[in-house]
Amino acid sequence: MSLDIFKLDGRVALVTGGNRGLGFSMARALAEAGAHVVVTSRDQEKARKSADELARATGRKALGLAVDVTDAGQVEAMVRSVISEFGRLDVLINNAGINIRKPIEEFDEASWDLIQDTNLKAPFLCARAVVPQMKQQGSGRIINVASMLALTGLPERSAYCSSKGGVVQLTKVLALELAPHNITVNALCPGPFATELNTPVINNPQANQFFLSHIALGRWGRPEELGGVIVFMASDASSFMTGSALVVDGGWTTE
Ligand code: NDP
Repeated sequence: MSLDIFKLDGRVALVTGGNRGLGFSMARALAEAGAHVVVTSRDQEKARKSADELARATGRKALGLAVDVTDAGQVEAMVRSVISEFGRLDVLINNAGINIRKPIEEFDEASWDLIQDTNLKAPFLCARAVVPQMKQQGSGRIINVASMLALTGLPERSAYCSSKGGVVQLTKVLALELAPHNITVNALCPGPFATELNTPVINNPQANQFFLSHIALGRWGRPEELGGVIVFMASDASSFMTGSALVVDGGWTTE
C-alpha cells in the first residue's frame, strides 16, 4: 500500500472553530498533509492570527474567517468566501462547539438553545451550505465532531449529550443521502482532551480525578493526538467509510 492515500495536496479543508483547541490541531494536521485550510472564529482577529500561524508553520495557504456558525446567512457567506478564494472545497470539519454544565432544574432555556444551535444546528447549516459545491466536484468529506458523550452520558450535560447524540444521527442520515454523490459523512467522537472547553473540569480537583479514573489510558488527550485520525478521515485512506462514528477517547467508553 502506498502512503500517498493519506496525502491531501491541493485539497481545501474548512474547519469551523479552527482557531484554537481541537479544531486548530486538526487544521494543522490537514495542512501538514498538504491541504490548504480555512479556520474560523467569531472574532476576525483571532481567526486571522490562527490562519497566519498555520501558513507559517506548514507553508500551505490558510484563510481566517469571522463566522457565527449558528447564523445561516453567515454560514452561507463563509462557504462563498472559501470557494471564491480557492475555487473548491473538499473537506468540511464541523468542529465549533460549546458546553454548559448545569443540573436540570437550573438549566435555563437560553443555555439549552445555545448548545443545540451551536452543536447540532450549525453542522446542519454548514453541511447544507457545502453540499452543492461538493456535488459539483463529484466528491467530498464531511466530518462532524461529535463526542464520546454522544454515546454515553454524564450528569449535568443534558443539553450537550443530547446535541452530540443528534450529531451522530445527522451523520448517518447525511451519509445515506450523499453517498450517491461520492460525499462521505462521518462523525469523530473525541473523549477528554485538555482544551479551553474543559477548563472547568481540569480546574476542579474532584472533577479532574473523576475524569482521570474513567480514562483507561489514565491521562487527558493531547489535541495533536487527533492529527493522524483526522488526516485518515479527510483523505482517500477512508474512501469506504461513511456513516461511522469513530471514537478516540483513551478508552473511556469501553468500560
Ligand atoms: P474550544 O472551546 O477550545 O474551541 C471551541 C471552538 O468553537 C472555538 O474556536 C470557538 O470559536 C468555536 N465556536 C463556539 N461557538 C461558536 C459559534 N457560535 N460560531 C462559531 N464558532 C464557535 O473547544 P474544543 O476544541 O475542546 O472543542 C472542539 C469540538 O470538539 C467541539 O465541538 C466539542 O464539543 C468537541 N469535543 C471536545 C472534547 C474535548 O475534550 N475537548 C471532547 C469531545 C468533543 P470562538 O473563537 O468564536 O470562541
